[in-house]
Amino acid sequence: MQIAKSWRQQPSNLRLEGTRCTRCDRLEFPAVIRCSACGCTEFEICQLSGKGEVVVATTVFEAARDFGEHVPYSAAIVKLAEGIHLAAMITDVEPRDVYVGMKVEMVTRRIAAQGDKGPILYAYKFAPLLMP
Ligand SMILES: [Zn+2]
Repeated sequence: MQIAKSWRQQPSNLRLEGTRCTRCDRLEFPAVIRCSACGCTEFEICQLSGKGEVVVATTVFEAARDFGEHVPYSAAIVKLAEGIHLAAMITDVEPRDVYVGMKVEMVTRRIAAQGDKGPILYAYKFAPLLMP
């Protein structure tokens, strides 16, 4: 895991901040420094809603080293209300209960730690939406 990179990205990831191109209006997450549609380098920072739905999901039984404490867990592609798709863990629900079309919302959860005394990393996950 790249701790320094994760640390730099943590504030925008925890708030789900994307960028909106000032030329073509394309919305992207994670934030970019060059628009993938038109190449423009001027943006507005946009707070995403954090609400969406599961479009595909699977259960992970064998995870990468840094995610081993979570297995088994549900990994999904979530489509946000703004139309952006992102990959995320689904939490606060048993993996077998996750389904396509499930309404979810972003939550902040511990995602990894480096040993007992190392830094703890937090990131976004998605949990079932209780209050639509
Ligand atoms: Zn653009």
